[in-house]
Amino acid sequence: MNLFYKNLTIWLIIGLTAILVLNLFKGQPETVNVLTYSDFVDKVETGVVPSFTLQNNIATWRNSNGERFRAVIPENPDSLQPFIEAGAKIEIIPTQEPHWFFRIFLSWFPILLLVGIWYFFMRKGGSGQGGGGKAMAFGKSKAQLIDAQKSHVRFKDVAGIDEAKEELVEIVDFLKDPTKFTEAGARIPTGVLLYGEPGTGKTLLAKAIAGEAGVAFFSISGSNFVEMYVGIGASRVRDLFAEGKKKAPCIIFIDEIDAVGRHRSSGAAGGNDEREQTLNQLLVEMDGFEVNDQVIIVAATNRLDILDPALLRPGRFDRQVMVPLPDVRGREHILKVHAEKIKTEPDINWQQVAKSTPGFSGAELANMINEAALMVARRGGRVSMEDLDAAKDKVMMGAERRSMIITLEEKKITAYHEVGHALVAWMLPGADPVHKVTIVPRGKALGLTMQMPETEKHSHSYTYLFNNLCILLGGRIAEEIIFDEITTGSGNDIERVSDLARKMVCEWGMSKNIGPIVFKTAEQPGMANPLVSEDAIQSINAEIRDLVETAHDTARKILTDNMDIMEAMTQELLEKETISGRDIQAIIDAHKK
Ligand code: ADP
Ligand code: ZN
Repeated sequence: MNLFYKNLTIWLIIGLTAILVLNLFKGQPETVNVLTYSDFVDKVETGVVPSFTLQNNIATWRNSNGERFRAVIPENPDSLQPFIEAGAKIEIIPTQEPHWFFRIFLSWFPILLLVGIWYFFMRKGGSGQGGGGKAMAFGKSKAQLIDAQKSHVRFKDVAGIDEAKEELVEIVDFLKDPTKFTEAGARIPTGVLLYGEPGTGKTLLAKAIAGEAGVAFFSISGSNFVEMYVGIGASRVRDLFAEGKKKAPCIIFIDEIDAVGRHRSSGAAGGNDEREQTLNQLLVEMDGFEVNDQVIIVAATNRLDILDPALLRPGRFDRQVMVPLPDVRGREHILKVHAEKIKTEPDINWQQVAKSTPGFSGAELANMINEAALMVARRGGRVSMEDLDAAKDKVMMGAERRSMIITLEEKKITAYHEVGHALVAWMLPGADPVHKVTIVPRGKALGLTMQMPETEKHSHSYTYLFNNLCILLGGRIAEEIIFDEITTGSGNDIERVSDLARKMVCEWGMSKNIGPIVFKTAEQPGMANPLVSEDAIQSINAEIRDLVETAHDTARKILTDNMDIMEAMTQELLEKETISGRDIQAIIDAHKK
């Protein structure tokens, strides 16, 4: 609450300052008509202006309508003569200086303002000494406190990642009854690092630990530590840990720890001081933990490889738990956990749904169930297999955007483009089967070709990857063949082709001329990698180009050899807007006869 008022004060000050500044610029008086000296003399002599005031060589008066007039009087003693002769009444007002206090204030105001702002941020950032910083909310960690009672998540809510769960049961036991561990002289890890792809349930797991153990749960994202102002991150870390110790036993969850925990730069590229300072503070705080503090830090990342090794040392995040993408059985469990919350038809075959969603993360599965429930909510009734199928497409490809206006020409180009992808995929043995092709815009894409791997793949063969290059290029080649023109629609495909080809050559040792040697890219984009010679770069580039060209030729041959099928598929796609693998099979069967 306190914090709220402090923030309010800051906003009030900012608001008042803004009003003041605005007023300085405003405050223009009513419009004034300006006259030349000679006109003015004329007016006085003819009696139009019987009286006026004079200040700083400026004569002002009002006419009978109340309009204001002004004229500049030359600065010589004779200039007033004509007026005196004409018998005008002149009221001379002494030159008025602004009040000294106001003058000083005006000249110092900008400086005072700057000093104020500087002071304000320095206090927040507080580099440790003095420990001020408490006055306002800047240096406070933005950790969100969820009281133990509020974390309803339990281990049973986390499905499909049983091994990860097993590794964490111990932590729950420790938080529940630390004496058992301390008496046995066992050291419980104070830091647990959960790593795995986004949406695999890392946050959920951390919440489940807190929920199971019945302790408080703080969560903060690593990116919250990294702010523009030097010192803020470090002070936030300090506050977070201080707060955690006060609320012990508790779990402190740091999401996206890679935002702070990135490998400290090796000096070459002028490091990021603020981030390093924050990271150092984190290390210091973790070292300062005692077992009986009963605070467990759980951090999550999807980039274990870029973390600073210092973070992983004993006493810090020395327990590392991988949270993988779920396999078929895991997916089935996750689907069922989430389906409990919605109304479903009794005949749903969850095993089959799980089979048709390879590569889906827990979050995507949860999302899919939710989408299905939303569809049914609009219509009424229960979720069926068809609803789940539609929800799957939506999650995989983004929502349909039927309202988007697309010209017929664009539609035709998109149709050929997608058929290009699909036909190449269809004809290449070993490529993932084509599941669906659509020219209904979804998300950012004008059209999409969806392939669905038959089984989970954990590694890929050269052939599989080369096929993917061909498939990615297929869209662009179809456009080339039909329209003799290339559109920007292939931009994303080309990006993926380059990326994949580069990885094949530089990371997976898949080129004959270069062989099984890994070339790491430079640490900072745009910087040369000192370990790779100019010659090597040239041959790498040549290899990449060669690979892409071979894939291009392969794809082009498939398409030119099957022009009639390509035409038939495109016509059907233009007509139906979405065609399935079964439709494609039918077209191809018809042409074989
Ligand atoms: P991460 O932190 O790994 O990115 P989250 O834990 O935030 O992923 O997952 C987001 C949501 O996805 C969860 O709130 C939950 O609904 C669902 N989810 C993810 N993984 C699982 C899982 N293993 N079991 C059940 N639900 C899951
Ligand atoms: Zn494409």
